[in-house]
Amino acid sequence: MTLPQPRVAVIGAGPSGLYAAAALLAAGYGDAGISVDVLDRLPAPYGLVRYGVAPDHVKMKSVIRVLQKPFDPAEVHFLGNVAVGRDGGGAPGVPLEVLREHYTAIVHATGSSVDRALGIPGEELAGSIGSGAFVSWYCGHPDFTELDPPLAHPGVAVVGAGNVALDVARVLAKSHEEMAGTDIPDRVLDALTRSGIRDVHVFVRRGPQHVRFTPAELRQIGELANAEVVVHDDGLLAAGIEAPEDRRQRQNLEMLTRWAAAGGSEGGTKPRRIHLRFLRSPVRLLGEHGRVSGVVVERNRIDADGRVVGTGEEETLDVGLVVRAIGYSAEPVPGLPFDERSGTVPNVGGRVVRDGEPVPGAYVTGWIKRGPTGVIGTNKGDAAETVAALLEDLPHLPAPAHPDRESLLEALAAYGVHPVDWTDWLRLDAEELRLGAARGAERVKVAELAAMLAACRAEAEVS
Ligand SMILES: Cc1cc2nc3c(=O)[nH]c(=O)nc-3n(C[C@H](O)[C@H](O)[C@H](O)COP(=O)(O)OP(=O)(O)OC[C@H]3O[C@@H](n4cnc5c(N)ncnc54)[C@H](O)[C@@H]3O)c2cc1C
Repeated sequence: MTLPQPRVAVIGAGPSGLYAAAALLAAGYGDAGISVDVLDRLPAPYGLVRYGVAPDHVKMKSVIRVLQKPFDPAEVHFLGNVAVGRDGGGAPGVPLEVLREHYTAIVHATGSSVDRALGIPGEELAGSIGSGAFVSWYCGHPDFTELDPPLAHPGVAVVGAGNVALDVARVLAKSHEEMAGTDIPDRVLDALTRSGIRDVHVFVRRGPQHVRFTPAELRQIGELANAEVVVHDDGLLAAGIEAPEDRRQRQNLEMLTRWAAAGGSEGGTKPRRIHLRFLRSPVRLLGEHGRVSGVVVERNRIDADGRVVGTGEEETLDVGLVVRAIGYSAEPVPGLPFDERSGTVPNVGGRVVRDGEPVPGAYVTGWIKRGPTGVIGTNKGDAAETVAALLEDLPHLPAPAHPDRESLLEALAAYGVHPVDWTDWLRLDAEELRLGAARGAERVKVAELAAMLAACRAEAEVS
C-alpha cells in the first residue's frame, strides 16, 4: 500500500526541535518519507545554543554543525519569524488551530525560558533580573535589546549554585579583551567594558560539597585575566568535609578546598573578584528610588537530615544588580494542556495527553516535555523517544485539510506572518560573520529584530 506523504511541523528550532527533525528525516517512512517544516518565532535557529550557551563557550556552540545538517541538502524547511500561539517579540503570531489544518502531526519544542522568582521582598525593584533575561541580553536575543542592566555599581549579586550562575559571574568579571573575541553584540560589549563592577558575589544556599557546577566551569573562574576567586565558607573547608560520592561534586570540593587554603585573593592584584559565598540565602532586596541598592542575606546551616535551615543571622551587601539563576519554568502553549507545577505539557513518552487521553497528532520534546534540565545532548534521546511515538501513530492520523505549502503560506500571510527561510537565515548568518571579521571575532550577533529581518531580506530586496 502506498502511504500518503505525511507533513510534520516542528515548532521550535532549538536543539530538541532540530534533533526531532533529523530523526523524522532518518525514519524512512513510506516511499516519499516525511515532509518536515521547522518553525521558530525568531529569524535565527538554534534556540538556547545561540541565546543561552555562554558566548565564551565557543566549543559548545560547535554543536550547531550537527544541528544544521538537515537544512543543508534542503531536506527540512525552515520557517523562521513564525510565532505560534502568541505574538513573539513584535512578530505577529499564528494560532495553533490554523497550523493543525496544514500538518498531519505537530511536535512542540518551544523550550521553557521563563525565569523563576525567589519570592522575596524587593524582587520587583529595577536591577533585579532573572538569569533568563540577563543571559538573553548578553547573547543578543531580540526580546532583550532594551534591558540595559545597571552595571555602574561595584557590587553585583548572583543567586544560584549551577552553571548558569557561573556563566553570569564569569561574563561580568571578564576583561574587554576576553569578551571582544566572542559573538556578543557591540552594544553589550560596550556596556560590559564601561561597567564599574568590582565584586561579583555568588550566593549558594548550601555548602561547598553540594554545588552542582560542572568542574570545568568552576575551574574557568579560577583562570580569569581580570578576576580572582574568594571562597567564603565559614571555615568549613579548612575543618574538613567528607568527600561526596558524586565524582563531580568531589572534584568541585577539591578545587574549592585548594582555593580556600590559598587564602583567596583579598590582597590580590586583579581588579575584580568573584566571591563564592556558601550557606547564604537572600531574604530581601533593598532599594533606593525604585532601584536595587543592596541585598540582605541570611546565613544557613544544614541540619541532621541534610535540610537547609536559616539561622536568623543576617548581613547586608551593597549591590546595584541582582541576577537570580535559580531555574526556569515555561509559558503555557495556547491550545495545549499545561502543568503549572512542573512547567511542562503533560505527556507520555512525548505524546501530549489531556485528562489521561492522548491528543491526536500532538507531541512534545525537549524542555517543554521534561522540564528545564539536562545538557544539549540530552535532547537527542528525548527527541528520539518522541519521534518513535509519532511514527507509531502516523498511519492512524488523518491527512491534513490543506496539505500544500502554498495554502500554508497564504494562511500565515492572513495573520500578517511572513516567514524567513533557510536561505534568508544564511544571509543574516553571513552578515554576522562579516561583522565578526571587522571586530576580530568569529561572529558578532545582530540583535534587533528589525535589523535581523533586514539582513535576512537584504539580497532579496535588491534583486
Ligand atoms: C543560560 C543557559 C546556558 C546553557 N548552557 C549550556 C551549555 O553550556 N551546554 C549544554 O549542553 N547545555 C546548556 N544549556 C542547556 C541547553 O541549552 C538546553 O538543554 C536546550 O537548549 C533545550 O532545548 P529546547 O529545544 O528544548 O529549548 P530551546 O533551546 O529553548 O529552544 C526553543 C525554541 O523554541 C522557539 N519558540 C519558543 N516559543 C515559540 C513559539 N510560540 N512559536 C515558535 N517558536 C517558539 C524559541 O525561539 C527557541 O528557538 C544551557 C541552558 C541555559 C538556559
